[in-house]
Amino acid sequence: MSSIHENLNAVKEQISAAAKAAGRSPNEINLLAVSKTFPPEDIREAHQWGQRMFGENYVQEGVQKIGDLKDLRADIEWHFIGPIQSNKSRDVAEHFDWVHSIDRLKIAQRLNDQRPDHLPPLNVCIQVNISGEESKSGIQPSEVVNLCLAIAHMPKLKLRGLMSIPEPTDNEAEQKESHRALFTIFRNLKENPEIQKLPVQLDTLSMGMSSDMTAAISEGSTMVRIGTAIFGKRTYL
Ligand SMILES: *Cc1c(COP(=O)(O)O)cnc(C)c1O
Repeated sequence: MSSIHENLNAVKEQISAAAKAAGRSPNEINLLAVSKTFPPEDIREAHQWGQRMFGENYVQEGVQKIGDLKDLRADIEWHFIGPIQSNKSRDVAEHFDWVHSIDRLKIAQRLNDQRPDHLPPLNVCIQVNISGEESKSGIQPSEVVNLCLAIAHMPKLKLRGLMSIPEPTDNEAEQKESHRALFTIFRNLKENPEIQKLPVQLDTLSMGMSSDMTAAISEGSTMVRIGTAIFGKRTYL
């Protein structure tokens, strides 16, 4: 077995074990393989072992790999999970299937306007800043409902849920606390009467990475974003 194959199997086992421990079905949790910094051949290999959802952080790198893997385009769902600058939004709108990192109205509006008519609506999650750190992106929890209401009226965006990147910690209790905070915001959003009037399908809670996926699954994650545990340690040039 290749190491990517072994790693994928180990991650899937960890997801299953975490789901069972939380009394959930493993089928409720989607695995997004985060391939940033890794070459297209690694993605092809993971695809060969059955992986279909891939996440990229940098627009140029992601668009390049989507092009390199054109022959697999119909069989891969590409997720953009990194910060979006205004001048890069068109590339995201034209090439990706999902965006997890919407953190302001202006970007949502641009993605909606730039999404080509021949493509289905772009699936989107709003990134929420739950640790309140200055440096981290994401909107404040108090702004979530208004941004969701605005996005729900954009025809070329399909609002799917929320995403967060909590402050890293090895302490499982702290990991759970952050994930629970996002889960609570998500639950309140789904129960909001204004939101309930709209035809939205809020089914995605994108939380959990290699080091905190178990905690995230125990707190209700429906999509874990896993890089290191599948592809190995990243080296940045
Ligand atoms: C890099 C990255 C991940 C994956 O992190 P790992 O710790 O390597 O699993 C997940 N989400 C986002 C937003 C990332 O940038």
